[in-house]
Amino acid sequence: MIEIESFIYRQLESSPLFYTNFNNMRLSALRTVQFNGFSYTLQMNPARIQSATADISKKPDTSRCFLCRANLIQGQIPYEYNDDFFIAVNPFPIGENHLTIISQRHQDQGIMKIVDKFVQMADDMPGYVVFYNGPKCGASAPFHLHLQACKAVSLPVFAQIESLKRLYTIDSAEFSSTNVYKIDDTTRRFIVIQTIDRSQLQYHIEKILREINFIYQSVEPEVNMGILFEDGYYTVTIFPRDKHRPEEYFRTENRIVCSPGYADLAGMIPVSVRDNFYSISENDITSIMRQVCISLEKFNALNIS
Ligand SMILES: [Zn+2]
Repeated sequence: MIEIESFIYRQLESSPLFYTNFNNMRLSALRTVQFNGFSYTLQMNPARIQSATADISKKPDTSRCFLCRANLIQGQIPYEYNDDFFIAVNPFPIGENHLTIISQRHQDQGIMKIVDKFVQMADDMPGYVVFYNGPKCGASAPFHLHLQACKAVSLPVFAQIESLKRLYTIDSAEFSSTNVYKIDDTTRRFIVIQTIDRSQLQYHIEKILREINFIYQSVEPEVNMGILFEDGYYTVTIFPRDKHRPEEYFRTENRIVCSPGYADLAGMIPVSVRDNFYSISENDITSIMRQVCISLEKFNALNIS
C-alpha cells in the first residue's frame, strides 16, 4: 500500500508550483456533454497545452528527458515505490491526486513487459485508476516508460460502466470468475475486463493485448489502458487505437487542440484552448473518438473468447 495522501500533502506543502497547479485544477470549469447512458466531462485546463501539442517525434537523450530522475523539476519529490518505479506528483494534473509512476531506468514506453507490475500498482492503490498511454497514443514522453494514476471519481467511465455494458455490449465472454466485454457506445470502442481473481487478471490482460497485436500486426500494442481495484474487484478498460490525433487537430480553421490519451477516452477531456472548451459539441466528440479508436472492422475481428 502506498501512503498517497501524505505524499501529495508533502509535495504541495513544499512547492508553490504544485500547490498552485493542484488548486487550479480543482477549481477549473467543467462542462458535461451527455450521451445516451454515459457522458464526457470537459475540463478547462490551459496548463495542459504543452502535453496536448507535444512533439513526440523527437527522442531526447537522458540529459534532457524530463522523466529522468536527474531532471525532475525543481522541488519535485520522488517517492521510492520499488526497484522498478518511483512515483511523482504530476505537476500538470487533470484528475484528483494525479500521479506519474516513472521507470527508474530510461527505457521506451511499452506495456507487454510490465503487465505484472501494472496489476501490482493497481493492488497497491485501491480506489485509484492506474493507467497507461501507448507511445503513439497520448504519452507525451514515449521515450521514458511511465504510467499514471488518479482517483477513480475523476474518470467518468468507471461510474458509467454498468450502464455502458447494459446498453452497448456487442460481444462478451465468461470465464470462471472473469467477464470480458466488447463495448461500442457510438463514440468509443473498447474492452472491459472484470474479475475478483487477481491470478486470472494478468492472464486475461495479456491475452487481449496479444490479440490486439495480432489485429494490428504489432509487437507493442497502441492502447490506452486503465486498471481500477476497488472493494476486492478489478475493472480494466482497454482502448485499442487507430490514430494518435484526429483531423480536427490539424485544421487551420476551427481547430480543436486535442491529443486524446487515457483520461479523454475514460471520459475526462482536458481542454487547453478556451474557445474549444465552450464550442466542443456532441458531434465533435463523436468524430474525434471514432477516428482515434479502433475501426469497426478491426474491432469485429478482435477475438475475446
Ligand atoms: Zn528518461
